[in-house]
Amino acid sequence: MTDPIATARADGRTLLTEVESKQLLHEAGIAVTESRLAIDADEAAAAASDIGFPVVLKVVSADIAHKSDVGGVALDLRDEEAVRAAYDSMMGAVREAAPSAKVEGVAVQLMAKPGTEVIIGTTTDSQFGPVVMFGLGGIFVEVLKDVSFRIVPLEPRDAKQIVREIKGFAVLEGVRGQPAVDIEALERMILQVSDFAAQRPDVAELDLNPVIAYPDGAVAVDARIVLTDEAEG
Ligand code: ADP
Ligand code: MG
Repeated sequence: MTDPIATARADGRTLLTEVESKQLLHEAGIAVTESRLAIDADEAAAAASDIGFPVVLKVVSADIAHKSDVGGVALDLRDEEAVRAAYDSMMGAVREAAPSAKVEGVAVQLMAKPGTEVIIGTTTDSQFGPVVMFGLGGIFVEVLKDVSFRIVPLEPRDAKQIVREIKGFAVLEGVRGQPAVDIEALERMILQVSDFAAQRPDVAELDLNPVIAYPDGAVAVDARIVLTDEAEG
């Protein structure tokens, strides 16, 4: 299989697509909804029936960092006809919202069941190097900035702390009839992300947004990797 980082470097770009990002993460043993690239509606429909329904379609373009902002995410598609229709309307919407973006096609992936959305990410601090970030999804991060950080490499103890330090931790323990999520699965994923960042000096930023957490397990449904400006070495 081709190395997405080498491909991106050869293209002179620093943003990996979701398909490329998930390929690297999957190889590192991190649970992701694997994405298959389809370059037209027929391929998308075929990939969907292969994967099994319901599926999600997302625009694939190294020029688009936030797919929903440009109409590039279609959720819960239940048959081939819905996939074909979503493909066509997505291409139209994206062309309108991001006319200069070079679109490769769409990523087809399994629609994950609803759960509690969290974010696991890394950034590179000029002083400390790679740093892992953890938070709850949606407004918790965007509005309340309820996130916690640890410097790579994390020890199991750090993973326990980073999860428990957020103000919204109670949400993960289950509130108002919502079941508790598998906190150990999140801790494991955080440690895997720490290892990934430690082993990949080319990676400046990683965003698993969201990871969907369940009473049993967790899976990253979106992934975005940004490379450093220049190849190391
Ligand atoms: P964006 O580039 O806009 O961040 P995402 O891939 O995160 O796009 O998709 C937007 C939202 O759609 C996610 O926050 C999540 O709630 C939902 N979503 C995306 N992919 C899946 C999936 N495979 N299964 C279930 N929900 C998904
Ligand atoms: Mg996202």
